Amino acid sequence: MIAVVGGAGYIGSHAVKHLIEKGERVVVFDNLSNGHRELLHPKAAFFQGDLASRSNLEAFFDQYEVDSVIHFAAFAYVGESVKQPAKYYRNNMANTLNLLDAMLKHEVESIVFSSTCATYGNPVKLPIDETHPQQPINPYGRTKLMMEHMMEDYASAYGMRIAALRYFNAAGADLEGEIGEWHEPETHLIPLVLEAARGIKDELLIFGHDFDTKDGTCVRDYIHVMDLADAHYRALIYLRENSENLKLNLANGEGYSNLEIIQMTERITGRKINYTLTGRREGDPAILIGSAAQAEKLLGWKPNYTLEQIIESAWNWHVKKWEEKV
Ligand code: UDP
Repeated sequence: MIAVVGGAGYIGSHAVKHLIEKGERVVVFDNLSNGHRELLHPKAAFFQGDLASRSNLEAFFDQYEVDSVIHFAAFAYVGESVKQPAKYYRNNMANTLNLLDAMLKHEVESIVFSSTCATYGNPVKLPIDETHPQQPINPYGRTKLMMEHMMEDYASAYGMRIAALRYFNAAGADLEGEIGEWHEPETHLIPLVLEAARGIKDELLIFGHDFDTKDGTCVRDYIHVMDLADAHYRALIYLRENSENLKLNLANGEGYSNLEIIQMTERITGRKINYTLTGRREGDPAILIGSAAQAEKLLGWKPNYTLEQIIESAWNWHVKKWEEKV
């Protein structure tokens, strides 16, 4: 069975849903610190445990017949990582080491894990492909790059099989509207724009309007969370059937500016969105666009969803969640 570590979080819960639809047996390992019980899949087993606890990991691998792991459990706020690096090194690095050691002990060989385009740092060429230099510019990106190195070393020394999937901007929600993006606090652009459209948020700040881009605001490459889920499934199958490890970008290959996101959201929701253009956020590169040609070549993976579908699915889920709360 497949262990999804962090399966109660945003991307993890979508991956669990996809794996179950593909007929896989899944157990979620999550401490629910950032994950949500409501995002757990009814057909997946659940073990509430913490990667910081070696005894939790022991009990987990003793209880379940796990053959591969997908690892989503990490902190991912860039700003917070600058202010509290200790928290990031402990959780993202030290706790991943606990996971790898437990896997080794229990002879679980394959791991697919969330890496990020933040491992590249400021782009020196666009689109960014996997050969781009990896020079992260914040502790978050550095912890993810170190996780990649750690796993590569475990792969060469202990014969582990690894797939590092470097996501660009994950967004959207499952199309049935059962699960979606739920961060507390929310810092990501699309959910904040949706909150502004709904009138929940009075002030939407757009960080920076003097970048060298089409309209002065930052440009990002948004990828639907169900496309990411599908890539994880394909990477697992690849590791089952091939002997090479994988390091792959997951991206759409198309960039949209922050103002374009607002305009498209206004069109989709039929609501006016108020925003204020303000100063740049520290550490934001002007443009991040990825090439996922390698993922297409090796996994036969291509993004299925457009930005419109990303915003529409996110809006549908958020509206449902807000209405359930009332
Ligand atoms: N952004 C913004 N206002 C916000 C949150 C984000 O202008 O309240 C901008 C951010 O500066 C970046 C883009 O939206 O240019 C995407 O940011 P997000 O945090 O969603 O993802 P990131 O690219 O940092 O992974």
